Amino acid sequence: MGQIAENLARVREELAAACRRAGREPDEVALMAVGKVHPVEFMEEAFAAGQRLFGENRVQEFEAKAERVRALGDVEVHLIGPLQNNKTAKAAALFRAVDTIDEAKTAVRLGAAAAALGRVIPVLIEVKLSPEETKHGVDPSALTTLLDQVSVVAGIEVRGLMTVPPWSEDAETARPYFRRLRELRDELCVRFATVRELSMGMSNDYGVAIDEGATTVRVGTAIFGRRPAPDRA
Ligand SMILES: *Cc1c(COP(=O)(O)O)cnc(C)c1O
Repeated sequence: MGQIAENLARVREELAAACRRAGREPDEVALMAVGKVHPVEFMEEAFAAGQRLFGENRVQEFEAKAERVRALGDVEVHLIGPLQNNKTAKAAALFRAVDTIDEAKTAVRLGAAAAALGRVIPVLIEVKLSPEETKHGVDPSALTTLLDQVSVVAGIEVRGLMTVPPWSEDAETARPYFRRLRELRDELCVRFATVRELSMGMSNDYGVAIDEGATTVRVGTAIFGRRPAPDRA
């Protein structure tokens, strides 16, 4: 077995164990493999090991991989990095879903591009739960307003929330952020019935995220190995 297949098997086992600890079914949590910076061969290897759901951070980087990834057949690739307003048409053509909407304008443009392609693109709203300036996402206080605006846009459907907590060695540091995102989802889904998904948890804290209700965990390093510097995004 190749290294990536081995890593995937281990992560799937750990994911199932985390589900058991949390009293959840393993099929309630989707494993998204994040191959940013790595060559497309890594995605092909993961695909050969049964992986079908992938996350990519940059529109342009995935554009270069897209043809070979499409050739694999049954794959689902989400954009999990920031979407610039001038890349919405490209994103609509390349990705199955966009998990990082944090602005009405981007949603409107993406929706128009999707509608022009005869598609409805599932989106997540990225929420900023820490005051760090560099983090993307909408402030929780602006979430209802944004959902009011975005939920009426044709061509997209809001499926849930996504967050990236501040990076820490200690997975427990992320727990309050994950919990907060779940609470926000629980409040919002009363009014916005399609808001169900929680995309949260990465290589070093996905167990905690599952504990707190994640429906998708986004795992890069634990599957594909360390990324070459300078990326720690
Ligand atoms: C890179 C990245 C991941 C994966 O991070 P790892 O720590 O390598 O698992 C998940 N989500 C987002 C948004 C990322 O940019």
